[in-house]
Amino acid sequence: MATPVPVTPTPAPLDERCARGADGAQSPLAGHTVILDPGHGGDDLGTVNLEFGLFESEITLSIAERLRDRLVASGATVCLTRLVDVNVPLEERARFANQQDGDVFVSIHLNRYEDPRVDHTMTMWGEEEKDLRLAEVLLETLAAELSTPESYAGAPNPISQETARHERLDSILLRLPEMPAVLVEAVFLSHPWEARAFADGQEDSTRWREEQIARAIEAGLRQYFAESVAGDEDREE
Ligand SMILES: [Zn+2]
Repeated sequence: MATPVPVTPTPAPLDERCARGADGAQSPLAGHTVILDPGHGGDDLGTVNLEFGLFESEITLSIAERLRDRLVASGATVCLTRLVDVNVPLEERARFANQQDGDVFVSIHLNRYEDPRVDHTMTMWGEEEKDLRLAEVLLETLAAELSTPESYAGAPNPISQETARHERLDSILLRLPEMPAVLVEAVFLSHPWEARAFADGQEDSTRWREEQIARAIEAGLRQYFAESVAGDEDREE
């Protein structure tokens, strides 16, 4: 009889839309599963800014990819509801989050308004008990991170911490996930300052505004999980 070869346990294969967190990361994010939902896609372009050739569906995917890479480096397993330019129905996005047993669900969007001077950060939550705290924490970090630098291309940054707000949104996208679920309307694509920032970043490949949004959401998630650990420890005392 052959000597049994010791078997190293291999982790179960992940869905192709998921990336496993880096080993040994020391971060409040480590070991958590984050579901990212790049808004829109395919025939649903979301908000468009034709003057600058910008499409919400393309920018949200870019933000989600950057955010995924950051979170994975910090030890979180990250699943995206879409990896390419396709339109996934809202219900399917939410069900996917449950199938992957996510700890949080973050849907990424950009806003628009007919008055191009309007620009502020928003987060939307569905159920107060389930989602509100995550919406508050993400709003705080987004407003803080996105309000810098003070000026860009000679114009002052329109995003201010004072105008940031969160609101309730009654949508299956937030209702169906069994985990805390939030929709982020990071900035207004209809504002010329924002549009220029995205367009310039695409042109010189820095994608700096997308990077900034990804970094802000990462900071928010880090804080959210740090808080929930602190909360668990409080309860044990
Ligand atoms: Zn949207």
